[in-house]
Amino acid sequence: MKKAVILGERQAGLAEVPDPQPKEDWVVVKIHAAPMCTEYKGYVSGGKSEFLGHEAAGEVVAVAQPGKVKEGERVVVMPQYPCGECHLCVAGDYIHCEHAYDFAAFTGTREGRATMAQYLLKPSWILPKIPEGVSYEHAGLACCALGPSFGAFQTMGLSAYDTVLITGIGPVGFGAVVNARFRGARVIAVESVPWRSDRVKQMGAAEVLDPSDPEIVQKIKDLTDGIGVDCALDCSGTVQAERLCIDAARRKGKVAYVGECGQDLPIRVSPDMIRKGLTIIGNWHYNLNDFPGIMKVIQESPLIDLLVSHIIPMSEIQRAFEISSSHQNSKMILKPWE
Ligand SMILES: [Zn+2]
Ligand SMILES: [Zn+2]
Repeated sequence: MKKAVILGERQAGLAEVPDPQPKEDWVVVKIHAAPMCTEYKGYVSGGKSEFLGHEAAGEVVAVAQPGKVKEGERVVVMPQYPCGECHLCVAGDYIHCEHAYDFAAFTGTREGRATMAQYLLKPSWILPKIPEGVSYEHAGLACCALGPSFGAFQTMGLSAYDTVLITGIGPVGFGAVVNARFRGARVIAVESVPWRSDRVKQMGAAEVLDPSDPEIVQKIKDLTDGIGVDCALDCSGTVQAERLCIDAARRKGKVAYVGECGQDLPIRVSPDMIRKGLTIIGNWHYNLNDFPGIMKVIQESPLIDLLVSHIIPMSEIQRAFEISSSHQNSKMILKPWE
């Protein structure tokens, strides 16, 4: 099979590797849509990589034993290789599993774990089925595009009564806007790249503010009758935006973080949490039991096509990474067979 690789600084290409084989309850998925995520960072920095991608939708093409999926079924590929047996996996919070498989030790090969490839291996229990009428390109949005914010909004209970601040409108932030609008919440977005600001306005954000504006906290207060936002979600993974979420949230408001960065945000326990009464959470992904809910967003949101800016053949991987690193994009989806 073919897969995408990063060969060096701003150099990407395709490699030919052996097809993966099914084993026990691990099945082979033929990948029809592989959403791109943060892989462009390695492309820009020159971090060589042979295994790219962790998001996909495709078709089951080979199984080793009868199990949860059959050949020919269309599925979304959930991330990672969780054990399937611990209390977190059983509860649907598999993303936090502490007993994940050692892929190479279990399969005896290194191939089959990247999604920017033609085939992939996955335990059948984390391959939820795609409802009829939903395309592979749309179904793949149930990974990082819509997943982190969906999980955060479930925990926060975001509703049509709320104003939500969303900082950092990249692919995850665009997904957050789709989820927030689906729930009827009013959105204040924070983004500096003009292409992304324009797109988020098209998606119905009530206001788009520039993160470098020194008056930004006051502006958010002015937009919320002087009290601050009910909920705030950072998708940028920058300390400045993480701090803004706390400062812009109202008393007894809720703050969630889904963007990651290497730096630590100083949270002040007394003024930020105790006196202000904030609920501050981190969220990685969504509970597997929420899959039907996220599919409903995909099926019914009028904004779903704006969430996808490019669908590109994997044979044009170099061009795909150039666009992905330009920030002139929302979610990009690779087609591994084109
Ligand atoms: Zn587990
Ligand atoms: Zn991702």
